[in-house]
Amino acid sequence: MGSAAPTPLQILEEVFGYEAFRPPQDEVIDQLVGGGDALVLMPTGGGKSLCYQIPALARSGVAVVVSPLIALMQDQVDALHQNGVRAAFLNSTLGRDEVRAVEEALHRGELDLLYIAPERLLLPRTLALLEQLGLALFAIDEAHCVSQWGHDFRPEYVQLSLLPQRFPHVPRIALTATADEATRAEIIERLELAQARHFICGFDRPNIRYRIAESRGNAREQLLRFIRDEHPGEAGIVYCLSRKRVEEIAAWLARQGLSALPYHAGLPAEQRQMHQQRFLREEGVIIVATIAFGMGIDKPDVRFVAHLNLPKSLEAYYQETGRAGRDGLPADAWMLYGLQDVITLRQMQAGSTAPEHIKRIEHHKLDAMLGLCEVTHCRRQALLRYFGDELEQPCGNCDTCLEPPETWDASVAAQKALSCVYRTGQRFGVSYLVDVLLGKEDARIQRFGHDRISTFGIGDELKQNEWRDLYRQLIAHGLLTVDLQGHGALRLSEASRPVLRGEQRLHLRRLRSPVKREGRSRGKVAQSVDQADQGLWEALRECRQRLAAEQGIPAYMIFHDATLLEMIELRPNNLQELATVSGVGQRKLEAYGEAFLEVLRD
Ligand code: ADP
Ligand code: ZN
Repeated sequence: MGSAAPTPLQILEEVFGYEAFRPPQDEVIDQLVGGGDALVLMPTGGGKSLCYQIPALARSGVAVVVSPLIALMQDQVDALHQNGVRAAFLNSTLGRDEVRAVEEALHRGELDLLYIAPERLLLPRTLALLEQLGLALFAIDEAHCVSQWGHDFRPEYVQLSLLPQRFPHVPRIALTATADEATRAEIIERLELAQARHFICGFDRPNIRYRIAESRGNAREQLLRFIRDEHPGEAGIVYCLSRKRVEEIAAWLARQGLSALPYHAGLPAEQRQMHQQRFLREEGVIIVATIAFGMGIDKPDVRFVAHLNLPKSLEAYYQETGRAGRDGLPADAWMLYGLQDVITLRQMQAGSTAPEHIKRIEHHKLDAMLGLCEVTHCRRQALLRYFGDELEQPCGNCDTCLEPPETWDASVAAQKALSCVYRTGQRFGVSYLVDVLLGKEDARIQRFGHDRISTFGIGDELKQNEWRDLYRQLIAHGLLTVDLQGHGALRLSEASRPVLRGEQRLHLRRLRSPVKREGRSRGKVAQSVDQADQGLWEALRECRQRLAAEQGIPAYMIFHDATLLEMIELRPNNLQELATVSGVGQRKLEAYGEAFLEVLRD
């Protein structure tokens, strides 16, 4: 290549071992290398890091990466070191000597990337230090933290507007995976990015398969079957609502022989830290967590995210499920959903003490969440539409696309169900109402005289669980409301009137009978390996695990699964051939090439 500075494409190949950019990475990189600013909105796993890492290497001086996720910095720097990139971080976890060592390296021009927390960057001392250095660029990661309306607001982010004043000639790039129209406008305004080129990508995560299963009252068995059948030996996250439930599910899965660990804010910090480390470092660990877990976890090979409860909004659902499959290989977002979820969420909503305009927003968000659960067409289309993204065709990779739900004309049954609510005085919950419809002999029903009303025993066309399913859908669609006191009593809403009077027909999802799957004993990724190559796959994984353990880093930092899969496919015989495998850059080739070739030869 001679003495000319390497091009971005050469850097991509030699340092990172990839052969082509994923659009619009190349355009973003050109914009920065040319000295311009950029705003980048890309979904998780889209490849944001290279957008600033490559310009950092192509331009002279050090690139400063601002991130609020201190816990991630060590891993980001470790991963760069694996590729032979000179990187370091400055944050509150470092001791004074370590800080001094980094500062000296900066003065000597020995770093290409510096990760830094915003509060540290804004210290007068740090700003003065940076003014003495040549700077390649500023990258502002998680740029949505500048928005006051998002969940992740960080006041220090607002002050980053001083960067263009103090460093007018240094290009800036702001990156985020979560920003609706309003947040985007706020980022542009507060970070003074009006002059920047904007790169707005779609939000789709095509490798994630969205699935929402009806809960059958035995959530943990359903979960266990899902993991055993579809993800044996693979890493995943299971979200539960309460700490108690987290502990119970984790302990139960562990008793079934899985490596499952609990994680919630009530555990001692050391234990949380240890469980997180094991999740990152070991293969096939399952974390059972409240929503406290996940922010700043960028493990690429999380093969499934399971929800045992409904999140409160689609924003939360999308963020949590987005932690699956960052490496682009197939992954599952699997959720259980049932009557009790609907009742709990509706009650929470009714009990909200928020001001009226906030309540309206909460209501809207919850309706959208329940709407996703009840849709009869492509889930991905519904999900993306909520975020303002249109997907032209049904995706073919969600449960409703793969096994289209049957719908039925539920008008008459709904009339019976609603009228039973009315005749019993709008004071009872689902179980009682179903008993009345089925004409059950029951002392309580007799005491209230409900064995003599017109809806007693008129419901033998449906079974008990089908009536419960119907009530769930009526609540989800807003035809029934749930009382505040917590007894789950149902009342008719305005929207129920036309249905009750027979003026509006109602088409609903039919309850699915549980599908018996043939027990597959291999994980999602292992499935894509031929039976004959299973031994090789295991041997390559072992080799990776051994090299990672020697350095105390996660296995995926040596090579991603996708890289191992390509080794099996291409069967390289020598270093030169190994270098063509995606994810094998120069440094990794030198450091690990021989070890993997040996495994491949055997
Ligand atoms: P994000 O920060 O947008 O969530 P990352 O930057 O972590 O995504 O990239 C996600 C994954 O995609 C990483 O494993 C990365 O190595 C890989 N990747 C990024 N760009 C490319 C590319 N051009 N070719 C192949 N793999 C890529
Ligand atoms: Zn679909």
